[in-house]
Amino acid sequence: MRFMVDIKQMTPDEITSEIIGMGLPRYRAEQIIRRIYGRGAADFGEISELPKKLRAELEKRFVLTAPILERKLVSELDGTIKFLWRLPDGNAIESVLLRYDYGNSICISTQAGCKMGCAFCASPPNGFSRNLTASEMLDQILFAQRESGEQISRVDLMGIGEPMDNIDEVLRFLELVNNPLFAPGGRAKGSPIGLNIGMRHISISTCGIIEGIDKLASYGLQCNLLISLHAPDDETRSSLMPINRVTGVDKLLEACLRYSKITGRRVSYEYALIKGVNDSDAQAETLAEKIKSVGGHVNIIRLNEAAGQFEPGDAHAFCGKLVAMGVNATVRRTLGADIAAACGQLRLQKKNLTVKFLRYYE
Ligand code: SAH
Repeated sequence: MRFMVDIKQMTPDEITSEIIGMGLPRYRAEQIIRRIYGRGAADFGEISELPKKLRAELEKRFVLTAPILERKLVSELDGTIKFLWRLPDGNAIESVLLRYDYGNSICISTQAGCKMGCAFCASPPNGFSRNLTASEMLDQILFAQRESGEQISRVDLMGIGEPMDNIDEVLRFLELVNNPLFAPGGRAKGSPIGLNIGMRHISISTCGIIEGIDKLASYGLQCNLLISLHAPDDETRSSLMPINRVTGVDKLLEACLRYSKITGRRVSYEYALIKGVNDSDAQAETLAEKIKSVGGHVNIIRLNEAAGQFEPGDAHAFCGKLVAMGVNATVRRTLGADIAAACGQLRLQKKNLTVKFLRYYE
């Protein structure tokens, strides 16, 4: 059996060395990279500037991953686009393209399903299928650009899955996205032919796996770290997020402090407000005290009622209380409300649809 290499697991620099190693001129590598990154080539046949013989050789040597667009929803409210992709092994993953004044941002999935089992999340607790590869994370950007015709300049690892539970592929993905290979002429003359998205434009959201946070910190990258905190006390947080039974709030905050000391980056804390669960005055006070001791910003999120059993709390009132206590807090804007843009919802709907569809044929 022939060993096939996933070409999109390689950085543009590595692709170039590989192509040169095949005895081909450098400009061939550039043609390939431009097509992969610039237009999201779905197979080598699309790289029409290459001779047919070379395309056939590349097909034998490399895998070129390409998700199939199964569903695309466009918000009439704000132009948010939600994509449901089907991977070759049958797994479905989601990404959401968000439009802001400063440019387009994409929220990507890092796993097919999730093991974390947070009580308020739309991802079913036993729904974990597998880790995504770095190239499958990259594809969500490349094919969202191809499908929408839009340029993406920011990336949030905040879709389905827990990035820190797949940290090695996430680190590889960061390398791919950040790789600024320049066309001949160097930085001054050439234009970047990789994605070249700056680390400060990449955010990683985690439920708080400490080993992952420390590993990321050890690379000293300049990406943004977002912590899904959702409660300042262990009792409440453990009832919402099983991972907290292992870590505990204070150990998590210590890891965040280490992260910001090593990287010099401010950490943001996400807090989805749940009526009667994490919105009391006492919790606002504990949260304020803890956040002020480690520094950082609190992002109050309006709870999405996907999971059913919880009701949203008053985000603006809670935020006001934090601000009055001297915390740097804001309420996050909701985008794509009409297309179920929040994490996991489309995948969930699609799953139900598939189940109904199968039953129909039984
Ligand atoms: N596993 C990572 C990233 C995926 S979840 C994490 O935990 O951060 C992305 C964000 O959506 C997290 O902040 C998560 O807590 C939040 N979230 C999940 N379900 C939600 C809901 N029903 N309403 C509001 N936010 C939710």
